[in-house]
This record gives sequence, structure tokens and C-alpha cells, in this order.
Amino acid sequence: MTRASEPATPSAGDLLAALAGATEGLVWFQDREGRLLYANDTTLKLLGLSAAEALGRKAVEFDTFADDGRRAAEARIYAGSPIEIVHGNRVLKDGAIRHYRMTMAPLRDAQGGIAGMVVQTADETEALRNAKILEGIGAAVPDLVFAKDLDLRFIYANRAFLTASGRTLDEVIGRRVEEILKRPNAAYIQSDRDVIETGRGDEIQTTVVTADGVRRIYLTRKFPLRAADGSIFGLTSVAADITEDFDARAELTRTAARLETISNVTPNIIWSSLKGGQVDFVNERWFAFTGLPADDSGNWQAGVHPDDVGVMLDAGRDGDASGAQMEFECRLRGRDGSYRWVLGRAILHDDPDGGGPRWTGSFTDIEELVDARRQAALALQARAEGEAHLQSILDSVPDPMVILDSTGIVRAFGTAAEAQLGWPAAEIIGRHVGVLIPEVAAAAAREAPPGSPFGGVVWRDRLLVAQRRDGSTFPFELSVGVVQSGGRTFYTGFVRDQTERLRAEAQAQALRTELAQVARLSELGSMASALAHELNQPLAAAANFVQGSARLLTAPGPDLGLATEGLGQAVDQIARAGDSIRRLRDFLDRGVSQRKPEALRELIDEALTLALAGDGQIRVKRRISPRGATVLADRLEIQQVLVHLVRNAVEAMAGREPRVLEIVARPQPEGLARISVSDSGPGVSEGVMHQLFQPFVSTKPNGMGVGLSICRAIVEAHGGRIWADESAEGGATFHFTLRATAGPG
Ligand code: ADP
Repeated sequence: MTRASEPATPSAGDLLAALAGATEGLVWFQDREGRLLYANDTTLKLLGLSAAEALGRKAVEFDTFADDGRRAAEARIYAGSPIEIVHGNRVLKDGAIRHYRMTMAPLRDAQGGIAGMVVQTADETEALRNAKILEGIGAAVPDLVFAKDLDLRFIYANRAFLTASGRTLDEVIGRRVEEILKRPNAAYIQSDRDVIETGRGDEIQTTVVTADGVRRIYLTRKFPLRAADGSIFGLTSVAADITEDFDARAELTRTAARLETISNVTPNIIWSSLKGGQVDFVNERWFAFTGLPADDSGNWQAGVHPDDVGVMLDAGRDGDASGAQMEFECRLRGRDGSYRWVLGRAILHDDPDGGGPRWTGSFTDIEELVDARRQAALALQARAEGEAHLQSILDSVPDPMVILDSTGIVRAFGTAAEAQLGWPAAEIIGRHVGVLIPEVAAAAAREAPPGSPFGGVVWRDRLLVAQRRDGSTFPFELSVGVVQSGGRTFYTGFVRDQTERLRAEAQAQALRTELAQVARLSELGSMASALAHELNQPLAAAANFVQGSARLLTAPGPDLGLATEGLGQAVDQIARAGDSIRRLRDFLDRGVSQRKPEALRELIDEALTLALAGDGQIRVKRRISPRGATVLADRLEIQQVLVHLVRNAVEAMAGREPRVLEIVARPQPEGLARISVSDSGPGVSEGVMHQLFQPFVSTKPNGMGVGLSICRAIVEAHGGRIWADESAEGGATFHFTLRATAGPG
């Protein structure tokens, strides 16, 4: 190193030389021709020359850094530019290329003219390379890379940082973070300080709203910047955007946790498998139910009824092939060895983790459902059998049969009923019975709700009128049975068509009337002599009275009083004969059967008068209780019965002594009156006793044997009964009953 000869007061040149000597870079002076006026030690060392050897030589001899840029810069210096900086490469002797930064400044003489220049070059090779590498890294990484000095002012920021912050490099470098961000994070700044103070790296997660207003989450890692001597002169930071990752991870964690909770809270068994692959997940329910070891979810077949494994495998194969939802029923084996029916369902979906298509399925316990189904099937079957059974019964009943519920709705309808009423069972079932019985419909309309299926209509012991589907009607009798079934009351009604019976009855009645007429005529025939006597007697007596009176009137001094009395007697006798004729005429009068309350006493007296005409030798006893007893009767018909019984008695007693006829009337239970006719005859002969009331049974030479059969027909038509037994006298007694009425009249 060159030193000044007067150390006490170093010249300006010496000072300059000392300064240049202390410089690490190359420093030299050159004149306008480019000859070296001075070179510092670094330069001399590089040249391998002593100062004496180097001075006066042209700089360009050793300076390969001589391109156009440098020459232009030199020209600008000589033209008056105060300073010029150029970058350039220099090829060293060993061929290595170094990068230099060359700073030039004019060297002025005493007159102020430019005598030459001072050149200072710094080897920037390392710095440049580092800078380039840093720049490349900074540009290449998506993370925000930046550095700050001890004052926490930015000394570096990469492109990602600038983009995220929306700032230019000029707006960032030299500034603090609080000058850049709207809402600086105090913890973040503190962490910067800590790194600088402690020299230890740090990591911090911050949420930042970027220039375009988007919330981002950064994970920033920080390291101290250390100089070669280890002192800290700042810190570098790398901030990674973990927003997506963070969100996804948080979401994933949340979802997974939620799913697991759900899957364990649900009473269902949940499982999952890869398409066509092994089951790789089952929830806790599976293990709880099957009792299978929790580390073996793949061995699902152990938890399934052996007969149903095939069902599940088939469902899985079909599902794999079609991609459609799987659904099947199977039995799972519980830890106690019992089986329960479950409904298996699964859907094929894309694995969100990218594992390809995946089945997720569940098993729902349907044991109760299956059981209920089974019960329902049994019940249905039983009902079908019951209904079939019922229908077969209905079909086999010859009478039309209808089954009603307690409100009168038709629940079943037999085949015979279909034929009889013209309604198909299918149409009438479910409708009200009033459709069939207008009287019931009318009653049901009055009384709501109906207290009985028939709406209060009396159906016992009486004729009702049914209406067929075509509107025609017929009389019928109903017999009803009550059935309890399943806690409900049903009524079975048999409809008995009475059309035929009524017609037959009408015909029988007509025949009977005719026959009775004949019988009365024949009765009269047998009574002819007695009747002749009956008429003859009063008429003969009347004739005698008239003759006697005539004599009294024609005699001298006629006794008018006596004659008048005689004529009055004659009139009485004629009236008596007239009465007899009137009775006869009445008896023969055919008339129409007409029942009304009749006094028993009168009925019996008239019959006796008629039947006993001319038979004065018979002792008649007559007892009627109560005295005013009345019966519901057709007067003429009952008289015919009485006349006939009395005539039979008279005939039976013919030629016998004593001849006693007794007529007794007595009340009977159930609102009946019994009339008994007894005689003192020989009684009914053995042979005819059992068939007395059959027609054409007679023991008499001229008897027709129809009398008693007509009597029976008449009595039964009146709702009574007729029979015979022995009388107290040893003769015959004939009894018959009639309906008694409340009293006389
Ligand atoms: P008929 O008088 O024409 O024979 P009925 O039917 O009146 O026909 O009587 C049938 C038979 O019953 C008589 O033939 C007789 O044998 C017997 N019979 C009827 N009434 C009496 C009676 N009061 N006593 C004995 N037998 C009687």
C-alpha cells in the first residue's frame, strides 16, 4: 500500500489512496487516454502487477469489460455527466465470467476541466446470482415471500405478495406492514419482533382480506436474516395460503364427525363398501346388534341368516351392474342367535375422497312390520275363509237371507235373496235395508240414528211388504237372529215370501165358505122335519086364535074384548114363525167372513134356538163366565160350529134317556175363551176318535162326515183349536177356543 511521506498532514491524494485501498472493490484512476494514474491494492492484486508496473498502462489492457455500454458511459462522463453506472461481464484469465457493476465519476484538474475519471467496480457475481435465484424463487412460488429489516420495513416482496396486497413494489419496499394493510394484525407484528429479538423462527396463522376483498387464511413461517457474522439484520417470511385447505379440512372434520355421530345415533345399521368390493365401514349398531368383533367389519356374512346371504349378494351384483338403488329384505343374526327382519337399502355414489363409486347403505329393523304383515295375511286369509264359509252358508240357505249390521246396513246377501229380491249381492251390500223394506226406510227417516236395524218397525208376527229392485212388491214374514261377532252385533234376517200362503189361504177360505154353505144346507135338510114343526106350531096356533076370534065376532052379542085378545095372540104366533124364518135366512146367508167382537151369550142362544128347533125333550144347561164374555168371531161361522156340535149331540142322544146337553164357556190363559158342548150320548166310538176331524169320516148311515172337518177349519181360521174327549155323563164333549176380547161390545 502506498503511504504519504508526511504523516502529520496527509495530502488529499494520500487520503484518497487510503480510502481506495480500504475498498474491497477495484478502484482506479485513469486519464483521458485511458492510462492508469492510480490502482488500488485489490486491482493490483487482480492484475498481478506492482503499482510501478501498472501505472501508465492502458486500463483496457487488463479490463475486458469494454463493451459499447461502457464506452457510451465514458463519453457521457467526458461530456459532463457527474456519475455513470454500467453493468457488465468480465471474462477472467481462467475463463470464468464475473458480473461487475462499474461506477464512473469525472476527475477534474485545477482548471475544472475533465482530466480523466475515477472508476470503481464491484464484483456483483454472487449478489446478482443470489438475487436472481431469489427472484426466480419469489416468482415461482405461489406463497407470499417477503423480507423486512430490523425496523420491520419491507426490503423484499415477491410477485405473489404484490398481487395479494394489490401494491406495486415501490409502494411496499421501505414501508412497514401497517402502512400497507388496512387492518394490521398486532399479534403478527409482535411475532416479527420476537423473531428478530430471539433469533428463532416462528409460525403464525392469520386471516387477511385481500385487495380483491376475499378472505384468505395464511400460514406464515418466519426466519431471522443473519449476516455473515451471525448478527440479525432482518427477517424473511413465507406466507402460504391455506384457505381452501383449511376450509376443506375443517369441513371434512366437521362432516366426518357429524356423520359418525349421525350414524351412531340412528337406530339403523349403516355400512359402506367400494363398488363390487368389501365392506369397509359399519357403524357401532352393527357390532352392538350382531355381537361380532369390532375389528372385523369385512366379515358381514356372519351376521346374516344363511338363507339370506344369497339374497344380499344378488342385490349387490344387480346394484353393481345397474347402478340403481339397492333394496332387499333379509334377516340379521342378533348376538343372542335370534334373527330379525331388516330392510336393506343402499345407494351408489361417488366417493368424495376420490376413491371411485361407493355403496352406502342401511339396515332398518322391520321385524314388527313383517310380523304385522304376517298377522294381516293370516287375518285376511281367515277372513277370506270366513267370508267364503259365510257365503257358502248363505248360498245354501233356501230362504232368502240377509245379514245386517246394527245400523241396518246390508253386510251379506244370499243367493236366494238375490233371486227373490232382484238385487245382486254386490250392489245391495253396503246399502240400508230400507231399500228393501219401504216401511223401514220411512221409519229410519223419522228416527235418526236408528236404534235398531229396522228403525223400530215391528216385524214379529206380522206381514211386511218387500220391494224388489224393479219396484214390484210382495208380502213377507221376517225371522231374525242376532249374532255377536268381533264385538259387533249382526242380524240375520230370513225373508219368507208369503204370497203363496196368502193366496192359498184366500182360496181355502173361499172353499171353506162354500163348503160351509153346503154343510148348512145339508144341516137344514137334516133339520127339515123339526123346522117344519117349528113353523107349523105357531102358524097352527095363530090359525086357532084367528078362528076363535072369528067365532066370537060372528056370535050374537059378540065379546069384542076377547076377540081382540085372540087376534093379538095370533099376531104373536105369526111373529114367532117370522123369527124362525129370519134365523134360517141368516144362517143360510153366505156372507163374507167378518170378525168382530161378539157376545158369547147371544151366539150360543141363537145357535141353540136354531139347532134345537122342535126338540123339546132335551134338558139344556148353559153356563157362561164371565157373563158378558165376548170373542173375536165371525158370527155366522161360529154359529155354524155351535149348531153343528149341538146337532151332533142331539143325534147322539136320540132314543136315550136322560137327554142332557150342556154348554159351558170359560176363560182360558193367553186371552182365549173355551166353549165346550157335552152330551149324554154314547160317546165317540173308538174307531173314529183319532180321525174325528178328518173329512168324510162318519159312522152314520147317511152321514157325509164333513161337519167336524169344517168346524175345525173355521176354528183354526179364527186362531183357535178344536178337540173332543169324554163328558162327565159318559157321553162326548167337544171343546173349541176363540180369542177373547176385552169386554162386551
Ligand atoms: P156326520 O155327522 O155327517 O157323520 P160329523 O163330521 O159331524 O159327520 O161326525 C163324524 C162322526 O163323529 C159321526 O159320524 C159320529 O160317529 C161321530 N160323532 C160326532 N159327534 C158325536 C157325538 N156327540 N157323540 C158321539 N159321536 C159323535
